[in-house]
Amino acid sequence: MRADQSSEHPSLSILIRINSASPRDVPMLQAPILIIGAGTWGASTALHLARRGYTNVTVLDAYHQPSAISAGNDVNKIVSFTDPPAEDDPNFVNKTFFAALTRGFQHDPVFKPHFHNVGNITSAFSPGGLKHIGRRDRGGDVVELNDPEDFRKAFPSGILTGPLPGWKGYWKKTGAGWVHARNALVSAITEAQRLGVTFIGGDSEGRVVRLLFSSNTEPRDIVGAETADGQKHFASKVILAAGANADQFLDFKKQLRPTAWTLAHIRMSPEEAKAYRNLPVLFNADQGFFIEPDEEKHELKICDEHPGYCNWIVGPDGERRSVPFARHQIPVESAKRIRGLLRATMPQLADRPFSFARICWCADTVDRNFLIDYHPDHPSLLLAVGASGRGFAHIPSIGGFIVDRLEGKMDSRIAAAVRWRPEQAVNRDWDDTQNRFGGEYRVMDFQKVKEWTNIQES
Ligand SMILES: Cc1cc2nc3c(=O)[nH]c(=O)nc-3n(C[C@H](O)[C@H](O)[C@H](O)COP(=O)(O)OP(=O)(O)OC[C@H]3O[C@@H](n4cnc5c(N)ncnc54)[C@H](O)[C@@H]3O)c2cc1C
Repeated sequence: MRADQSSEHPSLSILIRINSASPRDVPMLQAPILIIGAGTWGASTALHLARRGYTNVTVLDAYHQPSAISAGNDVNKIVSFTDPPAEDDPNFVNKTFFAALTRGFQHDPVFKPHFHNVGNITSAFSPGGLKHIGRRDRGGDVVELNDPEDFRKAFPSGILTGPLPGWKGYWKKTGAGWVHARNALVSAITEAQRLGVTFIGGDSEGRVVRLLFSSNTEPRDIVGAETADGQKHFASKVILAAGANADQFLDFKKQLRPTAWTLAHIRMSPEEAKAYRNLPVLFNADQGFFIEPDEEKHELKICDEHPGYCNWIVGPDGERRSVPFARHQIPVESAKRIRGLLRATMPQLADRPFSFARICWCADTVDRNFLIDYHPDHPSLLLAVGASGRGFAHIPSIGGFIVDRLEGKMDSRIAAAVRWRPEQAVNRDWDDTQNRFGGEYRVMDFQKVKEWTNIQES
């Protein structure tokens, strides 16, 4: 077997001469399938493949499960349910995705126990934020909240004691709430393992350093991936589900913008956690959100809302690229915004020390639709990326759509929305806020952050 460097992506791909005993000759259900990334989408895909009878599935991840950098490794995420759309619904694609996750959280024993049907409140105070949230089709039983007193009444007394200045919003009382994200992710991985999927995690055995391509087929197809320990993993199909890091492996033609958000926790006493139990999720498009403390550690997670941070690095070609990095701290400016949210809502908690903080990366497409498609130049490479800051809620079902695409069965309307679409990104405005508000009302740059928190994890 001869291996030489690809001219296209010199450091991250390698050409391999494939011989006649290619894994491509094995029947589909037994053929080796490799998933890169055991985060939210990789785990969901592994589970759906195993449930459909695929017997030779391996998932590689740079971290042991659950990955410390997966955007899904978090105490909670917001979820909202939707009924299945009519065939002629103009929002057919989005509603089909949401109807599928709804079924998953309502009926699938792997995910159902992790969903908390406490309702959610979507709010804002800036003209742009209010206009944006007003446009959403929420379905279900929704109550308008027109002034701070309406918000206070939605919570048990003594919780929302802050001024909530100018806040207005919508309270969806049921069919909405939050999911214990880490537990749902671990549940998906555990079930996939039980059904025979192999997970390989860790900086050496699991971290993919390059994709492997054939040198003697036309088009030049993918044949596997190489991990940091030098092991080559060959497969008939490779599914790239590496979240914000997917962009390092291929030229995505500007379709992905790795973007990060910021979160912190405060630890509450068991008595406080009890008093704050079953609160509706409170999301404000201009300032941030929080969700009730989790039952195990009594940690209250708070996020400041903003259009995101990028980490801009200018390449030799003069083009800038946002390059993700892991950090379990946040910019001090973000910590201040989080305290500002607490002062506006629950000032009794505003000066508590943070017990945990991290930045958390996702990959934004231009239109924030997902990207689930075969690569046009590498027919056995399926891309499952571009979760665009809204991909966790889909954990019960996104893998089913990804496997539909793998098998060529995806509904044509969905396939069109999530296709490989570089034409959208030709003159991409990297600084587009993409309908996000809050913070400095612009995409921020980690390179310009002067001071980071120094939180000791407890
Ligand atoms: C602060 C924050 C709050 C959010 N809130 C919500 C919410 O409320 N509701 C919602 O629906 N969504 C939310 N999201 C978005 C959601 O978390 C993401 O869209 C989703 O988790 C992305 O899934 P993924 O599988 O694409 O990426 P990830 O879950 O990040 O998985 C990528 C995986 O790839 C692995 N990987 C990376 N590099 C390599 C490599 N070289 N080799 C092997 N493996 C590698 C990583 O370790 C990781 O496990 C939020 C995101 C953030 C950042």
